[in-house]
Amino acid sequence: MAHIALSGIRKSFDETDVLKGIDLSISTGEFITLVGPSGCGKSTLLRIIAGLETQTSGDVAIADEVVNKVRPSHRNLAMVFQSYALYPHLTVRGNIETPLKLRDLSHLQRLPFFGRWMMGARQKQQAIDTLVNEVAEILKIESLMERKPGQLSGGQRQRVALGRAMVRKPVAFLMDEPLSNLDAALRVHMRAELAELHRRLGITFIYVTHDQAEALTMSDRMAVMMDGELLQVGAPSDVYKNPIDRRVAEFVGSPRINILPAEKGADGSLSVLGLSLNQCVEAGEAQDVVVGFRPEHTSIGPAAREFKGLQLTVTHKENLGSEFFVHGHLGDGKHPYVTRAEPSIGESVSIGDILIVTPDRRKALAFGADNRRLTLKGLEIGEAA
Ligand code: ADP
Ligand code: MG
Repeated sequence: MAHIALSGIRKSFDETDVLKGIDLSISTGEFITLVGPSGCGKSTLLRIIAGLETQTSGDVAIADEVVNKVRPSHRNLAMVFQSYALYPHLTVRGNIETPLKLRDLSHLQRLPFFGRWMMGARQKQQAIDTLVNEVAEILKIESLMERKPGQLSGGQRQRVALGRAMVRKPVAFLMDEPLSNLDAALRVHMRAELAELHRRLGITFIYVTHDQAEALTMSDRMAVMMDGELLQVGAPSDVYKNPIDRRVAEFVGSPRINILPAEKGADGSLSVLGLSLNQCVEAGEAQDVVVGFRPEHTSIGPAAREFKGLQLTVTHKENLGSEFFVHGHLGDGKHPYVTRAEPSIGESVSIGDILIVTPDRRKALAFGADNRRLTLKGLEIGEAA
């Protein structure tokens, strides 16, 4: 069942169309990321789901009920922002229980000292304590409950902010770049933590990020947005391996995919920089075909028998310890190219070297001038393309 369904969502600010008709179905319990470059409309879409922004047209439905006119506080969604917005003067416990107190205790029951003697206040406070303790246990912050936010690390504050959202038992968490204020090492750690938290809670997560690595590593599905449109929605490995649009292929994956112009024969057969791919596109397919090879689908060394290599002039190399990326340009210097290398090979490469690199043509991805992915067919009989 679609838990949260968006249909035909459009949004214009003045004359600018920021969202151009978004259709997306999110299942119950799913971890979905909305990923795309800065300014593509991710935050706007998330705010529309939350009800903090009103769409120009289109419907938002939660559990089969259209909620276009339902106020944010009645959608039962929890929004977690980049800035944690914790109350600095309250303890962690105070921060987490405040939303519950505001919701469940009357004005008088919330009065200090006096309030707890009001009718029913004590039972309600006990229920709140139980819930707060449960959440603290899930988030592993029991030992921090009496500290103030100023005494916490970035990651701990993040967990407290999540805790404050969790106690209200929302039907979904909406998160807008929640990790972008953290340093690199903590960000990587929190990715794993959030993914694990999602598994434990089993609640729907809608997670916005401009960082394709976060989308690839954490989510069940990623929705790649560009210029107010959804280009592709799918499991991370599928989007990575089978991008249906050149812009998706270039956005997802780091270092980015190498794109080379292809020459097309009359029969649709393709070659790049004079080397045949032994594959063809439908004759009559668009002109201006380009072919993409990912850095890891390229080997360095003696050219393979059936697909001779290309000459790469090395301009830079990146040592990541477990692997190298060798940067350079091909042929006449017009075509930048990056290839992955094993450390044993990468260590021996020097700037200015001319290497033979062999892209794996079975992994070639072809795109037309309109950025659409083109189907490749092997020219040799019985060979899988
Ligand atoms: P993202 O989160 O993907 O970086 P946003 O959704 O924040 O993108 O913004 C998308 C586009 O909408 C941007 O060009 C931004 O300038 C514009 N925009 C966002 N909010 C407003 C607003 N309140 N008024 C006018 N333009 C806005
Ligand atoms: Mg944003």
